[in-house]
Amino acid sequence: MGDERQETLGLRTLEDISVIILHSHDLQETLDNIVNLVAKRMDSDVCSIYLLEEDGVTLTLKATKGLSKASVGKITMKTSEGLTGLVIEQKGVVAIENAPNHPRYKYFRETKEEKFQSFLGIPLFERKTPVGVIVVQTREPRVFTGEEVSSLATIAYQISSIVINAKLLDSIRIKEEERAFFEHELKKIKAHGFTREDQAAGGKKKGGKQQLMLAGSAASPGFCWGKVYILNQRVNRNGSGLEKVMPRPEERKRFLIALEKAKIHTLYMEKRVAQLLSKEDAAIFHTHLMIMEDRGFISRVLDLIDKDYGAPRAVKEAVDYYLGAFSQMEDPYLRERSADMEDIGRRIIDCLEGNDPSRVRLREKRIIVASDVLPSDMATLDHEKVVGIITERGDVNSHAAIMARSLGIPAVLGLAGLLKNIGLRNEVIIDGNSGHIYINPDDRIKVEYERLQRDHSSKQRELDGLRDLPAVTTDGARVFLRANIGLLSDIRVALANGAEGVGLYRTEFPYMARKSFPDRNEQCGLYRKILEGFNRLPVNIRTLDIGGDKGLPYFAYPKEDNPFMGWRSIRVSLEREDIFREQLAGVLMASPHGKASLMFPMVSSVDEILAIKRILAEVKEELKRDGKPFDPAIPFGIMVEIPAAVQTADILIKEVDYFSIGTNDLIQYTLAADRNNPKVKKYYDPYHPAVLHSIKRVADVGIQSGKKVSLCGEMAAEPINALLLLGMGISDFSLSAPYIPIIKQAIRKISLSTCREIAAHVLSLESAGAVKEYLGKIKMELGL
Ligand code: PEP
Ligand code: MG
Repeated sequence: MGDERQETLGLRTLEDISVIILHSHDLQETLDNIVNLVAKRMDSDVCSIYLLEEDGVTLTLKATKGLSKASVGKITMKTSEGLTGLVIEQKGVVAIENAPNHPRYKYFRETKEEKFQSFLGIPLFERKTPVGVIVVQTREPRVFTGEEVSSLATIAYQISSIVINAKLLDSIRIKEEERAFFEHELKKIKAHGFTREDQAAGGKKKGGKQQLMLAGSAASPGFCWGKVYILNQRVNRNGSGLEKVMPRPEERKRFLIALEKAKIHTLYMEKRVAQLLSKEDAAIFHTHLMIMEDRGFISRVLDLIDKDYGAPRAVKEAVDYYLGAFSQMEDPYLRERSADMEDIGRRIIDCLEGNDPSRVRLREKRIIVASDVLPSDMATLDHEKVVGIITERGDVNSHAAIMARSLGIPAVLGLAGLLKNIGLRNEVIIDGNSGHIYINPDDRIKVEYERLQRDHSSKQRELDGLRDLPAVTTDGARVFLRANIGLLSDIRVALANGAEGVGLYRTEFPYMARKSFPDRNEQCGLYRKILEGFNRLPVNIRTLDIGGDKGLPYFAYPKEDNPFMGWRSIRVSLEREDIFREQLAGVLMASPHGKASLMFPMVSSVDEILAIKRILAEVKEELKRDGKPFDPAIPFGIMVEIPAAVQTADILIKEVDYFSIGTNDLIQYTLAADRNNPKVKKYYDPYHPAVLHSIKRVADVGIQSGKKVSLCGEMAAEPINALLLLGMGISDFSLSAPYIPIIKQAIRKISLSTCREIAAHVLSLESAGAVKEYLGKIKMELGL
């Protein structure tokens, strides 16, 4: 009976706190709401939260229900003072019926507190370090029951995570502002750093650790230094049963506590995904919570424990039972529930084993090392703790790289031999600007690295000064620099970097983080947020571009030998009209809330354009019939990213309002070189005359027809390339937002006529090598 009460109290509180977390806007509001809730739920006169300052010895009152509100932020005490300090000193619960008689009792006049009789204080922990205290006080003497203490401990655990999350969010914000664009300093680090001889000799040993420099593709700029987390070697949490099994009541208790913790972690995941993407995208975690509260599931685990299984193994067996059942299902949606079950099982076992499951098992800031990071990993990775990403496969144009850039995480991809040269105990410096990594760097390198970090801040300040200035050449040619985005959180990054709207909104990312196709209303909600976020700046929404390296967990995708050449992108949309219509309706319904345009990827023929137009017209008719407002003249554009579209650009332009050149795909299709395959990296070359002449041809068609041609591939993120493209007639670029300031800086230093001269010369050259040599010279001259 007692157990049941505790469970109900725990669950109710958990649910309420879930609502508080989801609906509060910042740490202060969350803490205020929590103290109100706890005071009410515990029927106490006071509930207060004190947090420990950076010095580790000062506690400050951060929120209170019952004490004077004016004392919040003002009351401070040393950990050696008062009962609250005692909680920190003892790192444990302090429960006292008659507090004023206690030798450590201290009365703070500022709180206007009467003499409260009873005191219950529980520490908040970040791992094993106390970060604060939650205190409950009552006027009447009261003996706190075991149940009350344990539910307050659960709440304390939740608050700790909120506080830690809030601090991490702060630090990531600061980090985002400190990004690296200082290539000339890099030369120094290389000069002072590892030499080829070091490598030839197999690297030096530093404290017994192998030192090594590896070169890959610079996929996301910036520097970082840290310990590694090897993603592909995630521990197989199989609850193997090899662990010692404790008596049944203890195993039961262990399981129930882990289950509660897993639920709390699930709430945080929900919160994080809601912040990063949208609340709708986070809804899957509600389903997880429901499964964790399912009586059938819980009693299956408890029954197994009663058969003398240890808790981890019992969870594993119960999860396997459900997995077996789900995997038999015909319906792909239900089959997908098995992935959820597995996820849930892993989370509970993580809690049983003391791991932190909500943050992709990262306990502290780490550099992610992986054979490959898939786009779906990027949607769920613990961004706050990921300081950098290095992989063996993948390239600058893979979607994982694009997301890393959006999130401001330095990344080097395509590092051959990475996994066999790196170990769990290694430290790595990532130089995301030049594409080098240093495994176990020596002190000289570290000192250089620290200096670079400092220099970077001043460089960054200089670039920040450009944010509100237009991108205009010295002879007055106006250039537009817009952002490529995929997530809601990109809005902030884009605006902070001075983006003049969005040249490419990749709608597939929000689809990826879901468990089923969103309907038109859900999509409208999301697009509306993006449009409103950009406050009437243009937002170019591209329809679903799945296939290739972008899959959706809930969409049965045919296995193809050659997916980039296969059923992807607009080809899927035109065949799955049901999905396509929902998306078009979603965009149209959102269109009155901003300045939207609609763009279609991978178009190769006029027939496709006509088919799209027919469907679009029908969707518009339907919305009209339903009385749903939309922008009837929403601009209609296509991406030019297949050689067929280049060859027929003069025909296609007649059917559209604008083109956007997608160089990421255009390069791979023109040169038959997979954009993600490091083995053919040398063939994937933006300076190949075939690529450059293709771009020129499309730009010319735009000029002749008087229609806009923009460029949204990653190629434009390099200053010299942007100048070259400008000289070729393109003056509207869309790129990862962090590159905007440095591109703007380059544009503001040069005249359009110089850019034209550069372009004319480049187009007269006959090989990529000659182009690179010439551009290298120009870069030196311009100091780029
Ligand atoms: C491109 O192909 O250049 C492009 C911008 O689209 P994505 O990278 O999404 O394929
Ligand atoms: Mg593309």
